[in-house]
Amino acid sequence: MAVPITPIRVGDVVRLKKPHPCGANEWEIARVGADVRIVCRGCGRSVMLERYEFDRRFRGFIERTQERPTNE
Ligand SMILES: [Zn+2]
Repeated sequence: MAVPITPIRVGDVVRLKKPHPCGANEWEIARVGADVRIVCRGCGRSVMLERYEFDRRFRGFIERTQERPTNE
């Protein structure tokens, strides 16, 4: 089954399918590319996910950044 690509930008805050072991389920997007780097807002740890894996786990936006990258 195809997973739609979520239009995320650096600075967005998202909720994922499972919370981090620390209990928080708010992740700030730190890098977007072939892999997505997300930072847990509860404990500050960063996690790298493959783009596909991120889209599978994505459950919704908490905050959207207003800033648009110049290459968009
Ligand atoms: Zn955490």
